[in-house]
Amino acid sequence: MSSSSEIAKGQKPPFANLYEVKHVAENACKACILCFKPTNTVLITGDKKDWFYVCDVHLKDKNFAKLVYCNGLGKDTEAEWRKLCGTVESLQRELRKLEKKERDKLAKEKSWLTVIPSWGAKKDESLKDEGKVKDKENGEENGSTPESEKASRSKEVVASELHDGEQKLAAFERENIKYHLEQVFYRGRLLQDFKRKKQAEIEQKLAAGTLFPTLDGLSSLKN
Ligand SMILES: [Zn+2]
Repeated sequence: MSSSSEIAKGQKPPFANLYEVKHVAENACKACILCFKPTNTVLITGDKKDWFYVCDVHLKDKNFAKLVYCNGLGKDTEAEWRKLCGTVESLQRELRKLEKKERDKLAKEKSWLTVIPSWGAKKDESLKDEGKVKDKENGEENGSTPESEKASRSKEVVASELHDGEQKLAAFERENIKYHLEQVFYRGRLLQDFKRKKQAEIEQKLAAGTLFPTLDGLSSLKN
């Protein structure tokens, strides 16, 4: 009977096919299980029952492992991740728009002031008046805040929200990015675990002097 068929008989695997990425110190690098180059990246199961060294580059190879989003309980969290990404992207767009608006406004003012200074100042005042009229027209929507102040305040708020959003996303990814090994590699890990346990069992029995009497088919010779 081969070892792999003995594993298949087991009802539940000793560890799930779900690995997290951890990094050890640079001076603690060990050989990658695939290409044997030194690496400080470790894939480890949530219960820490299995772990091995592997290069970061193999984590992008779909023939080796697939990136999945799930929490510590194994619940799929990809929808939550997409939502967070969507929030960050929309804040980035909003901030770019505000920055462009600010740049355009500054460039416009600068060109007026440098070409015809007096005319530029006059135009500016008339713009301010226009703004007041618009604010009055819009009532509650704009309040009494001048357009320029409203834009700069919004930019700060958006930038701060974006910073928070990016931090939240990074923390979420640290907690939720996992790897699901391709079946052939997962089976290899299970086989290795089985061999390790068998070896430990044999060593324990050798140390206790009880190895031979407990071998299959020899139990009748015990006494
Ligand atoms: Zn490698």
